[in-house]
Amino acid sequence: MVLNIKTTGENANNLGFLLHKHPSRYQTETLPYGTVHMFYPEISKELCSFVMFVEINSIALARTTKDNYSATFKLGHYVNDRPYVASSFLTTVISKFLGSALNGKCNKHPNLVEEQFSLEIEVSVVKSIKGKLQIANFFEPLGYKVSVEEKQLDSSNLNWGVSSYFNLKLEHNSITISDLLSHLYVLLPVLDNNKHYYVSEDEVEKLLNKGETWLKNHPAKELITKKYLKFKKSYTQLALEQLSEEIITETNNISQQTDIKKTSLHQIRLETVVETFKALHVKTIVDLGCGEGKLLKLLLKEAQFQNILGMDISYRSLEIAKKRLYWDTLSEYQKQKIKLIHGSLNYKDQRISGFEGAALVEVIEHLDKPRLESLEQVVFKYAKPQYIIVTTPNREYNVLFEGLKEGQMRHQDHRFEWTRKEFEMWGSRIAETFNYEVTYKPLGEINEQYGGPSQMAIFKTKNEA
Ligand code: SAH
Repeated sequence: MVLNIKTTGENANNLGFLLHKHPSRYQTETLPYGTVHMFYPEISKELCSFVMFVEINSIALARTTKDNYSATFKLGHYVNDRPYVASSFLTTVISKFLGSALNGKCNKHPNLVEEQFSLEIEVSVVKSIKGKLQIANFFEPLGYKVSVEEKQLDSSNLNWGVSSYFNLKLEHNSITISDLLSHLYVLLPVLDNNKHYYVSEDEVEKLLNKGETWLKNHPAKELITKKYLKFKKSYTQLALEQLSEEIITETNNISQQTDIKKTSLHQIRLETVVETFKALHVKTIVDLGCGEGKLLKLLLKEAQFQNILGMDISYRSLEIAKKRLYWDTLSEYQKQKIKLIHGSLNYKDQRISGFEGAALVEVIEHLDKPRLESLEQVVFKYAKPQYIIVTTPNREYNVLFEGLKEGQMRHQDHRFEWTRKEFEMWGSRIAETFNYEVTYKPLGEINEQYGGPSQMAIFKTKNEA
């Protein structure tokens, strides 16, 4: 199978820097099931063409991978389409040998990562049992001009129809190399429909990591997700749930002025949560919906907290959390203390039980009613930590935010914002149902009439009689 990426224009040579492959070097690498060749067939000041040619050795393949191809006839282990089709073999090779480009990294020239190229890409061959329309349906919404060369199965028997194998040519006027490789990484195996490895939960993370930014708005999001995860229902559900979540950033919504208030308010909130857990002598904490890791960072600084777990449904937020925590440079001691996991608060999860304290900071208002109900069960009934701190905005205070129109919520992803009374009614019902005691506290600068901008409930398990 062959992948050819070609660019023209003044910045053509930058392709080599981004791919981390020297234009004058012909590189050959051995794989467990074959060989990959990488080279530049054409290079000049204004043109750069890079080829990745993956040669699959059918015998090595039959020995090293689970055999999915021999169902129809005995020689199928050795005689099959795997050497020719752009499949998960190609994307594994992309991630291994073009990993920096795929992940948008270029240490020597970091400014190139965001550079938009005009590209022509050829892939020989792509398999699509649903025909060329599906190929177009997957790539066109991403801004590609798609040309698909189809072939008759037999030119003397036209009624046999066309083959399911196509030469694919894509053109894009303005795209980063990382985006291109992410699109291929997800879509080629989806078209092929035959992964050479077992699809486990890691695959959800891979999909979200490579696809979260563009898949969210893709019209074939559901089909792509299902096919990528081999129609495994629980994985598909987790991925789709995440893809429908809004990513929360503090600057993408209401006015600047509100944001400034909000940022400092958030700091107050986080510090209050930390101080409360300290006063309660809690040593092990799970931060549920930890987002970009702001609370985790504060918790990690405190010697009292010996075991800290952050969980979020957004893979991208977890990646940001890792950066914020300088994950790669944490000491051994810190690494033992803190873990991050990808998960959903809508499903019972063993990994979040056994902690003394749990935080839900500005999370509940992002869940609609049925999901909030499952969160209640998951956290208060099953995980059942001794202390649970929940914070949420106080809607009454919104009138004091100049940037907010009447009735508008503080964030477009908020499903509700409660008054103090509504929050207390919810808290008391939850405490009653799950055998907790609850106290409430305003957060932030208090207004006599409207209370604090945010509010906090501290749940403590009742001693069982
Ligand atoms: N607690 C963080 C982030 C708050 S934003 C902070 O205070 O900074 C809400 C977070 O909840 C987001 O990161 C979002 O991805 C996460 N979230 C929303 N629904 C979730 C669910 N069902 N399971 C786990 N996390 C969820």
